[in-house]
Amino acid sequence: MKAWQNISSLSFQQIRKLQDRRLTHFINTQVYPFSPYYRKLFDDHQIDPRRIRGIADLRQLPLTSKLDFVAADNPQKFKDFILHPDKEKIRQYWPKDKLLGLALRSLFLGKDNVQEALGKEYRPIFMTFTTGTTNSPVPFTYSRYDIENLNISGRRMVSLFDIKPDERIMNIFPFAPHLAFWQTFFGALEADIFALSTGGGKVMGTEGNLTALMRTKPSVILGIPSYIYHLVRFAQERKQDLSFLKKIVLGAAKVTVGYKQKLHAMLSDCGAKDVFIFGTYGFTEARTAWAECPTEGHLSSGYHLYPDKEIFEIIDPKTGEARNDNEDGELVYTSLDSRASAVIRYRTGDFVKGGISHDPCPYCGRKTLRLSSDISRLSDIKGLNLSKIKGMLVNLDHFAQVFNSLSEIDEWQIELRKHNNDPYDNDEIIVLVSPKKGINEIAFSQMLKDKLMGMTEVAPNEIKFIPLGEMVKRLELETANKEKRILDLRPKI
Ligand SMILES: [Zn+2]
Repeated sequence: MKAWQNISSLSFQQIRKLQDRRLTHFINTQVYPFSPYYRKLFDDHQIDPRRIRGIADLRQLPLTSKLDFVAADNPQKFKDFILHPDKEKIRQYWPKDKLLGLALRSLFLGKDNVQEALGKEYRPIFMTFTTGTTNSPVPFTYSRYDIENLNISGRRMVSLFDIKPDERIMNIFPFAPHLAFWQTFFGALEADIFALSTGGGKVMGTEGNLTALMRTKPSVILGIPSYIYHLVRFAQERKQDLSFLKKIVLGAAKVTVGYKQKLHAMLSDCGAKDVFIFGTYGFTEARTAWAECPTEGHLSSGYHLYPDKEIFEIIDPKTGEARNDNEDGELVYTSLDSRASAVIRYRTGDFVKGGISHDPCPYCGRKTLRLSSDISRLSDIKGLNLSKIKGMLVNLDHFAQVFNSLSEIDEWQIELRKHNNDPYDNDEIIVLVSPKKGINEIAFSQMLKDKLMGMTEVAPNEIKFIPLGEMVKRLELETANKEKRILDLRPKI
């Protein structure tokens, strides 16, 4: 915690200096000596790791992408990203003071003690997977050292959300080997805060989650946006008093201002009037998450980064060229402090509008660098071939923005089909909505068409109104780890 607070008082130039120093150290004492993948990458490109003096030098190193983790002929390729220390390389690459420390430890406490310490630092003991929406799932491992980093990010987020030790939290993230559930679990444990982890809708059902919520009366709940929304609506329909809720933390999916406003309206109706709603951002490959701080009016502060633990770059997604921090572009992540699985210059596949701000946070004053929360998956943008716009790419996030801004809509889903189910025919967009009671369907359809057209430049072929109960089943809100918001039913060619 101290390190982060200290960083909060540094200027950007001082932060960059610290990052460059840590990067040089990390590359030369951990990555190059112990990572099979990166050692080969440095060697293949004839890059001398000793000449890496900071992030500017590291740009000679090719970017790593999701595709580098998988190989058709080698399902164990993810292991090449795990650090494997051995005696000889430790002797060769570790600085003298660290070697002296090891020698003294061995002398006074014995060889076994040294082995145990190295085991704690490097041996994988925990694992989470990528969710595998675009590629096959890739495992990322953690040693005891990495779990401590997960604890640290947990503590930092608890401090951002200003959760006090006597508060209770309910972790409603789906129970799965995914980062969000475990970041919450370890964070709460580390901060000594009472936490009930229900496992989400799939494990306890919405009825079960609501019962647990009403019995536990936590001031903080954490979960994925679609399920939290569903749960709060479920409580609202049953006229429950949720006035004990003070903070809602959302993860594993993008959260827009429109979504926050709609959720807030439902919460107010349940007596929870002063609730802060926080968005977070994280990904398996970083094995950590970053969060917003409290703001007025549901604005986003941006995600507060951990510059002592990582470096983010912004690149042109087409050419891979580095851009300025404050520009739009694809987010590239470099770890400064990993042990088991480690990635350097990793292309997240996420496109960020507004880049990274070096200014102090206008809400909490921290100078930790802040990442704009306007992030969309590049992989979501690819692969859409809509007839009405011939070859133009459509950002599916824009659909979500439109739907989330309309208070008349409870839930929505989009189906992408081919006309006549013919793979070579035009694409069709069918929008399914569950409206709130008492809307004029004809007037609403026209307004929705206009809004979608204005935002995405495509108009849906059809708008269907379906009852909420049927929609909840279609979205698999209660049964899947991630709701089925967009169904691509186009036959594969
Ligand atoms: Zn802040």
